[in-house]
Amino acid sequence: MATILSAQCTDARVNLVTPELFRRFPDARSIAASPRGALEKVIRSTGFFNSKAKALRGASKAIVEKHGGEVPRTMEALRALPGVGRKTANVVLGNAFGAPEGVVVDTHVGRLARRLGWSRHSDPEKVERDLNALFPREKWVFLGHALILHGRAVCASRKPRCETCTLSDLCPREGVAP
Ligand code: SF4
Repeated sequence: MATILSAQCTDARVNLVTPELFRRFPDARSIAASPRGALEKVIRSTGFFNSKAKALRGASKAIVEKHGGEVPRTMEALRALPGVGRKTANVVLGNAFGAPEGVVVDTHVGRLARRLGWSRHSDPEKVERDLNALFPREKWVFLGHALILHGRAVCASRKPRCETCTLSDLCPREGVAP
């Protein structure tokens, strides 16, 4: 649920919203049956709240009806849920179940993979394929988190801080302005 809410929203904001969300609606059944307006009100500050509420209800309904109220554990079944793409499915498989199908590729991971010379692609699924081939499976979850943190703290989109970056000796800085 939190990963669906994180689209176009900061993690900090999602983390402010989820305690109240899960207090009011503690499982898939209660989210699926939530009265119109009540769920929207709780998640409003995450933005795009109408479509996110629709995805939360739709995913919860499918989890209840097709999976007995439990979040499914395969890429195929997760991707069949409303609001769940490959990135979200990999977040859940890797972090909740310890069984990722690949590296989570968001905007930070994609940018860093290109700058570091690990991928030439802009399509996240192709970047994921390149990273999956370069790193062993047991590193995939860590790699996604590490690149996201590094992208936020050091290798920002517009102004990467190459002069203080711990990876500067290894990084070809592909596409970075001199
Ligand atoms: S050296 Fe620069 S471009 Fe390379 S990872 Fe560090 S901040 Fe990013």
